[in-house]
Amino acid sequence: MSEMISGVAAKVEEKLFQNRYLVDAGRPHIRVKPHNEPSASLLAMITLCPAGCYATTESGQVEVAADGCLECGTCRIVTKKTGEIEWNYPRGGFGVLYKFG
Ligand code: SF4
Repeated sequence: MSEMISGVAAKVEEKLFQNRYLVDAGRPHIRVKPHNEPSASLLAMITLCPAGCYATTESGQVEVAADGCLECGTCRIVTKKTGEIEWNYPRGGFGVLYKFG
């Protein structure tokens, strides 16, 4: 996907790179609850998360690195029925700072 900005084609990834993120060290706003086998919903987050925050571990579990999270809420909605994640907004002053609104 691309879009013209100031006469230059910009990909979504390039736009996301313009955002800034203030990490609340030691207080991630999203946590994946301990699990043996992830549900299909949780596994889907690896491809659905627009910021690429989700990944699998070597043992096949799903983990989240909330640094860079766009606070879109997709993972909160997708895993609502399974309850596999805890989701909160970051504390005030932390989290994503959008450059393009
Ligand atoms: Fe990814 Fe959106 Fe969930 Fe943040 S809220 S981890 S950007 S899906």
